[in-house]
Amino acid sequence: MALPTSIKTIAIVCLTFAWATSLGTQACFAQKDRLIQSIRDQEEFTWRIAQQIWKWAEPGYQETKSSKLLADALEAAEFKVERRVAGIPTAFAATYGEGKPVIGILGEYDALPGLSQTAAPYRQPREDVTYGHACGHHLFGAASASAAIGIAQQIRSGQLKGTVRYYGCPAEEGGSGKVFMVQAGLFKDCDAVLHWHPSSQNSAGDRSTLARMAVKFRFHGKAAHAAGAPEQGRSALDAVELTNFAAQLMREHTPDQTRIHYVITAGGDAPNVVPEFSEVYYYIRHPKAHVVRGLYKRLVLCAQAGAMGTETKLDINFQGGIVEILPNQSLSQVVIRNFREQNDLSYSAEDVKFALRLQDTMPKPKSLDTIKLVVDRSGTVGMGSTDVGDVSWVVPTTGFTTACWVPGTPGHSWQAVACGGTNIAKNGMNLAARVLAATAWDLMTNPTDLSGGKREHARRIGEEKYATLMEPGQKPPLDYRKPPKSTKR
Ligand SMILES: [Zn+2]
Ligand SMILES: [Zn+2]
Repeated sequence: MALPTSIKTIAIVCLTFAWATSLGTQACFAQKDRLIQSIRDQEEFTWRIAQQIWKWAEPGYQETKSSKLLADALEAAEFKVERRVAGIPTAFAATYGEGKPVIGILGEYDALPGLSQTAAPYRQPREDVTYGHACGHHLFGAASASAAIGIAQQIRSGQLKGTVRYYGCPAEEGGSGKVFMVQAGLFKDCDAVLHWHPSSQNSAGDRSTLARMAVKFRFHGKAAHAAGAPEQGRSALDAVELTNFAAQLMREHTPDQTRIHYVITAGGDAPNVVPEFSEVYYYIRHPKAHVVRGLYKRLVLCAQAGAMGTETKLDINFQGGIVEILPNQSLSQVVIRNFREQNDLSYSAEDVKFALRLQDTMPKPKSLDTIKLVVDRSGTVGMGSTDVGDVSWVVPTTGFTTACWVPGTPGHSWQAVACGGTNIAKNGMNLAARVLAATAWDLMTNPTDLSGGKREHARRIGEEKYATLMEPGQKPPLDYRKPPKSTKR
């Protein structure tokens, strides 16, 4: 049957369009493959950076060498690097490209106190450091840099349009570095932010965290001979004990999912001297920031009671607060799509040997086969806190975890530090770099993915406004990892 000319024309146009689109899609796939290959090509370089940061294991706000190493690597890749941003010596922002969209990738690099460990599958602290990368931030910082460099290469070669920015974020562990970076306006032009975290399993999804406030209560008493003149002394340690007792009683009357924990960071030096100075360091958490705010006020009452009952003086050294993550289902689905495509984790015979030996030290080991899965944890709340929370309220943000630690390894453990120095961590880290890069690619080439994330962000915030848990004018607690000063008042 002969078709009328107008229909023929429409058919030809349609066929041509379909052919061009399919060619365009194929070309796009090939270019994305090239991006992934470039991440694979720099795996050894990325691992060397991660290993170096693992060895240094620097405390929060003192990550001088680690932040410089990452900033220098990005500068060598032609990023424009702004150092010492937000008034923090170890914070930086590294930007490549120009115009929209602006995709942010977060990187961290601080270590944890008291968790020094070699890469052995048994407890073996290192002799040269007291800190350890028990949260895997050496991997976090390095993989994010690798992804940012991969995206920059594609912008340079004209395959991508827009800007990629690496955020060098110090002191995640209790220092709340990102909150000050948000307050400095560093995320203002960002369209989406990606982050990830080492873990013992692969996971992604629409998942939140706990909001958290941190405080150091410092008590000043009177020193005296503990046996010869005890009536003349007023024990600062007693004040800590009374505070803690009041806090234990308070626990019973807090909402579900509240977490309160503390360490005594100074409690006297000798039993025969009534302690003149003491310090207790508290965290208080809940899935909702406004609940934490109320709980914090009650915790302060406990400390005031501790001071009053022991005739000591109280100094409140507020360390700041971080809000819960505002998740983003639209962005997390882009991650999951790429994650399932990229996940090729497997263990060599040597990895299996290490893993089984390490699992002997764990209360809850899990099957090694779980590394093959990518778990969607949408709708859940992780029982940890992160300063990514504050970023997520000002920019649509999504994150994921990759299996860098042997299944069953808890975070903040010596086992996590040990895994962080092995091939298992290397593979998990490089998987994270590929997922970050592939997700950034999709957000830069598919406007629907990005606009979906933005619409959802606006909808979820609704009438609520981002409200920081910091006090007005609060400065970064740059000395929070330094020993307390017991100056007499
Ligand atoms: Zn941590
Ligand atoms: Zn962490």
